[in-house]
Amino acid sequence: MSKNFRVFATCDIGPALDVLRKRGYQLEVYPDPKAPPKSLLLEKVRSRIDGLITTLRDQIDAEVFEAGKGTLKVVAQLAVGFDNINRADANRYKVPFTNTADVLTEATAEFAFFIMGDLARRLWPAEHLTRENKWGFWHPYLPFLGDEVTGKTIAIIGTGRIGLAMIKKCAGFDMNILCYDPAYQNHEFIKGIQETMDLRHARGIQREKTGIKYVSFEEALREADFISVHVPLIRAGESSTPTFHLFNERTLRMMKPTALLVNTSRGPVVDEAALARALKENWIAGAALDVYEKEPLPADSPLRDPAIEDRCRLLPHFASAGKITRLSSDPDKGMAGRCVQGLIDVLEGNYGGDVKKMPYVVNKEVF
Ligand code: NAD
Repeated sequence: MSKNFRVFATCDIGPALDVLRKRGYQLEVYPDPKAPPKSLLLEKVRSRIDGLITTLRDQIDAEVFEAGKGTLKVVAQLAVGFDNINRADANRYKVPFTNTADVLTEATAEFAFFIMGDLARRLWPAEHLTRENKWGFWHPYLPFLGDEVTGKTIAIIGTGRIGLAMIKKCAGFDMNILCYDPAYQNHEFIKGIQETMDLRHARGIQREKTGIKYVSFEEALREADFISVHVPLIRAGESSTPTFHLFNERTLRMMKPTALLVNTSRGPVVDEAALARALKENWIAGAALDVYEKEPLPADSPLRDPAIEDRCRLLPHFASAGKITRLSSDPDKGMAGRCVQGLIDVLEGNYGGDVKKMPYVVNKEVF
């Protein structure tokens, strides 16, 4: 089969692209670090490219699929989340799209754990104190204390790949774990974690007995000291379990006033205006965020309010940003490698050309 495929990448995803060049692909990479305007994306797709490499910054919808009608064979997304790709439109035009699940699971989960610790132990204000030369004395409780993570109760919202990985990290910190997921419950995994907890307690590795169980959303909100969100962005009408504004005034008010919220999933899962009020009016004690309703975070976002600065950690959609996780050309290690392999699978007809058998294709239902 000729490998003279034409591919447009909306972003430089690093050395993994050399895999395509070496195979003889005609590859054009958008050179600007910012996403290309939609008009340029459409122009490239209309120029009869075979494959499109995208990131979460590109809106891939009917307009794009129409522009590539009869020629565009695959959209390869460098992310596990694909809420920027209109699945119904992809299906209508019968264009497979791929994602990079699994290879970023541990990196994202550990990042969620780290920013939870940063928030809980107040690392950011503490470093400011030191850097700004305001550390005048050592004192048992001044100017502030943090909350330990060890031994506390965490609620994991969404027990898919990253939620389960987060559970492993939390179990290592002797936390009690409440799980909520209306669509997928991995009871075998939860049983394994409980057995590990029991063994650690029996062998004196952890002092207190701890537990893990599935609960209702309300129980998770009411009982948890920490809540970590690991759901996809699902808007109303897209599924029976939408996640858009899952955290809103009503649900934030159900959390303990001492609780901390961690969101590394997608920004619109949290109503930011409600969260800013929740922090300002002390409905909850803090939030650590990696993702936002609008990215990059606008200059006038209420989350930037200096009044809540010490309780609100703001990171730049950075959870998967480990060197190997982002860039490795190995499809079993890196998002870039997996993205490129997903594209190759479709264009070169791997797996006997059966899209349903291709591991990185998301919308298998249409084939
Ligand atoms: P996954 O599909 O394996 O898991 C998501 C889980 O959420 C599923 O088990 C699903 O049943 C559950 N879910 C669906 N609706 C729910 C609801 N209403 N309430 C609770 N749970 C619900 O996905 P994953 O690989 O674990 O990734 C999760 C999300 O994390 C991705 O979709 C992406 O948006 C986000 N993500 C962000 C970053 C980052 O850089 N910040 C990195 C990786 C992934």
